[in-house]
Amino acid sequence: MQTDATMSFPEKKTILIVEDNDMNRDILHDLLSDDFNVLVASNGLIGLKMLEEHYQTLSIILLDIYMPECNGFEFLERKKTNPLFSAIPVIVMTASNTVEDEIQCLKLGASDFLSKPYNTEVMKNRIRSIIHLRETSSFLNRLEKDSLTGLLSKEFFLHQMQNLLIRNPDESYDLLCSDVESFRRMNDRYGTAKCDAFLSYLAGRLSEKLPDLVLAGRLGVDVFAFLIKHQEAEWAEALLKNIVEDNQPSGIQLKYGLVPAVDHSLAPLTLINHAASAIKEIKGHYNTSIAIFDEAFQEKQLRIQLIEEGMLEGLKNKEFQVYYQPKHNVKNDTIVGAEALVRWVHPKLGFIGPNVFIPLFEQNGFITELDFYVWEEVCCEIRRCLDIGFAIVPISVNVSRMDFDTPNLAERLINLVDKYKIDHSLFHIELTESMCVDNLDYIAATCEKLHDAGFVIELDDFGSGYSSLSSIVLLNVDVMKLDVSLVHNASETKNYSLLRYAILLAESMKLETIAEGVEVEEQAMALRVLGCDYIQGYYYSKPLNRDDFEPYLLEYESQKGEDYFNRIF
Ligand code: C2E
Ligand code: CA
Ligand code: CA
Repeated sequence: MQTDATMSFPEKKTILIVEDNDMNRDILHDLLSDDFNVLVASNGLIGLKMLEEHYQTLSIILLDIYMPECNGFEFLERKKTNPLFSAIPVIVMTASNTVEDEIQCLKLGASDFLSKPYNTEVMKNRIRSIIHLRETSSFLNRLEKDSLTGLLSKEFFLHQMQNLLIRNPDESYDLLCSDVESFRRMNDRYGTAKCDAFLSYLAGRLSEKLPDLVLAGRLGVDVFAFLIKHQEAEWAEALLKNIVEDNQPSGIQLKYGLVPAVDHSLAPLTLINHAASAIKEIKGHYNTSIAIFDEAFQEKQLRIQLIEEGMLEGLKNKEFQVYYQPKHNVKNDTIVGAEALVRWVHPKLGFIGPNVFIPLFEQNGFITELDFYVWEEVCCEIRRCLDIGFAIVPISVNVSRMDFDTPNLAERLINLVDKYKIDHSLFHIELTESMCVDNLDYIAATCEKLHDAGFVIELDDFGSGYSSLSSIVLLNVDVMKLDVSLVHNASETKNYSLLRYAILLAESMKLETIAEGVEVEEQAMALRVLGCDYIQGYYYSKPLNRDDFEPYLLEYESQKGEDYFNRIF
């Protein structure tokens, strides 16, 4: 006696025979059971039930056409409605069926026919070859497409893109890559299921909205790539801004990198790297969602590369030069100090200002080495002036936030200045409040040590948006440097009230004030009236190299009056 299901042997492929005729079913079962796991169903309805139960392990179905309850056509029809069953091939068993029946079965998705009476070898081989064919194509399909989003897999996208670029040399394409900012954090916060649903939604939404889409692929967990026919400039920003609608997790940020009119001679992976480097540029920039890999971007990248490649050599070759910008007493014009500002005479790029390379060095950590070099150069200069007998003024140096990552910063500075036998009061230290976001305790303790050792601490860029009262108190500073923006805003709007409050605040805390960026007489006069103590700006002098700074010192030496370090101590 035979049951509707047999034991399963995983090494064998599993066949479902749907046949109402007992004798036919038994014959088929006997013929095939040596080579396959055979499941049998005595009519279409039972067959459909078994299909539901076993679809994951089923390799093929042998189907009779004429059966009571649910015939072969109906079976095929209902099988078609469930995509989970679509990969399982069906061989229809025919006897004296007409050609119309066969056509109807093919239309409903049957793969082949077997006619009765059965030739065992023909039948087995046909079953095997159909199973093989189907398995190969489903494997390829899995390779081609990403199952979550339905986009092409990375390999397939690259392959297709390469073909397209080769075959259509006259067509112009744009490559757009998308990336979800902080996707990992989002995954932790919302869970994989919700994030998967979002990725799937996003892929669909972008595929649907992007103009003239040619190819779409998923390159990484949250990275998609789209090849589109070339669009007019600035299309992307307007389109992409609101592409993600309401059903996304809140706080989500999408970043896009666009390579317009791709160069056909470049490998697709190189072009994708270009888009990725554009995205990298805007990571963490809240207000920017798209970066374009255009000529300006490439020039900037090249500069960055040249800067980073040349920094170590540059330091060794003394390409970094220290300039000195004088600070003057507002009341009697005497020179009271100077700020050391670094410049780079780059062998390829020429003269570069610190605003170009300092932010990069702050990112890659080189700033600490450069700052230490600048401090030593300043010590050399002070020593030189002292030795010659110049009336040297105190020089301030900039200390970057990264410098506080080095242990024993205070000791290193003290040792350095002592090595040159320089009075600590001649060496001022400029700190910005923005550095106090983390390790505030260490910064405060370092400042305290330096202060106790006789160094003067100046709070840089006050009023630039980073300052707060707490840092002035915590860092125990001596001088407040009023940011250039305070001075410029006041003179542009003719409203000096902010500047006045800042000076009053400094006075009430017994701090000296230096106004930065003073360029014209009118600003200098206003600052004098407001009670500002010192001025640093083009009004007196631009930053000067050593050769110009020393004569400048000499010129003012004769007029030297009260200097601000003397007033503090
Ligand atoms: P900062 O410390 O605020 O330096 C003042 C900046 O204002 C300097 O720019 C100076 O040239 C500029 N300046 C001076 N007078 C005027 C003026 O009248 N009008 C205008 N518009 N600007 C004026 P610079 O030399 O380009 O330096 C830019 C920034 O780079 C500095 O800002 C400082 O934050 C940083 N920096 C410079 N040298 C070093 C260094 O050796 N180490 C570190 N860590 N940072 C440095
Ligand atoms: Ca400064
Ligand atoms: Ca400043």
